[in-house]
Amino acid sequence: MPELPEVEVVKRSLESKIQNLIIKKVKINDSKLRYKVNKYKISKLAGKRIQKIERRSKFLIIKFDRNLFMLIHLGMTGKFFFINKKNRKFKTSFYYDLKDHKNQKHDRLVFFFQKNQKLIYNDVRKFGFIKIFNEKSYDKILHLKNLGPEPLEKNFNSDYFKNYILGRKRTIKDILMDQKCISGLGNIYVNEILFLSKINPKRKVKSINNFEIKKIIKNTKSILKNSIKLGGSSIKDFSSGNGKKGLFQQHFRVYGKEGEKCSNVDCSESILRIKISNRASFFCQRCQK
Ligand SMILES: [Zn+2]
Repeated sequence: MPELPEVEVVKRSLESKIQNLIIKKVKINDSKLRYKVNKYKISKLAGKRIQKIERRSKFLIIKFDRNLFMLIHLGMTGKFFFINKKNRKFKTSFYYDLKDHKNQKHDRLVFFFQKNQKLIYNDVRKFGFIKIFNEKSYDKILHLKNLGPEPLEKNFNSDYFKNYILGRKRTIKDILMDQKCISGLGNIYVNEILFLSKINPKRKVKSINNFEIKKIIKNTKSILKNSIKLGGSSIKDFSSGNGKKGLFQQHFRVYGKEGEKCSNVDCSESILRIKISNRASFFCQRCQK
């Protein structure tokens, strides 16, 4: 499932490929995504120029003029492929390969631009969605209005976090997964952040001190930035279909490492796996207090 860094890389790839292009038409091969694609609304995109591409949490927002925008969530398996003027195919992120696109069976939508350029939305499991809105403010959009601050923005800081957790009785793991507290963090990153911050995922937030809060904020930002950098570099040659997938996963320190030796040099404990709020949590009981 694409996490925040993957979506950020898709955003940057799309910027370099389709920003300023004008949509000629949109072909819907299959409208039954997580929410049914609105054929009428999407037909209104014909003739519109893509002005800006944004990311909010794990959503992509493609903006046109007059407050018209397309909201995209990639779900579990959503992927974009871009076909350029020379009919060369490019991927837009690092969590899949070009060879994953063997046939057009799962191409749900195709956006056509000038000079035979195309953007294909492929989604095997169809948990992703594409919706069209015409709103001045994102606060009107159900998917966006209750999201907490972006982890890489300045408003996600120690003061904010301290305030948010005040009086709450949940575990630190739960709070970091809470999209109202911080938007876009998934299970993988929360496990990694707590490992690097040396905090046990089962701890109640009221026991987290100021020093630990600072570590959580710092590590959240550095892990995400690093992943975006790695992801961006792994698709420098977007059209090369080999080898780079999974590069990013090689950098996980704790996620999925149950039974393996802790990666801290001075520790010989094995990584444990438990469930917190029904999600797998990986941690070292010696290093994470
Ligand atoms: Zn350890």
